Amino acid sequence: MGVHDVRTRKMGDMIVVDAHIEVDATVPVEAGHAIAVAARRNVMERHRVLSLMTHVDPWRRPDLDHATVTAQAAPGGVKK
Ligand SMILES: [Zn+2]
Repeated sequence: MGVHDVRTRKMGDMIVVDAHIEVDATVPVEAGHAIAVAARRNVMERHRVLSLMTHVDPWRRPDLDHATVTAQAAPGGVKK
């Protein structure tokens, strides 16, 4: 669903990359792992990257309907 905290460093004429990838929190671990493996392969095929280490973060669809109802019920905002 997204990516953040991308870090790169040079190693010789190659690049080593760390990245946090945002994976739908509702998919099984096996599917999340497959996404991380595919991301690594895609990057290494397209760029001079020696290694891509991924950190998988669970991503959740924003519950906008619920947020509106909660805001109306509690004027002044809701703290998480
Ligand atoms: Zn993260």
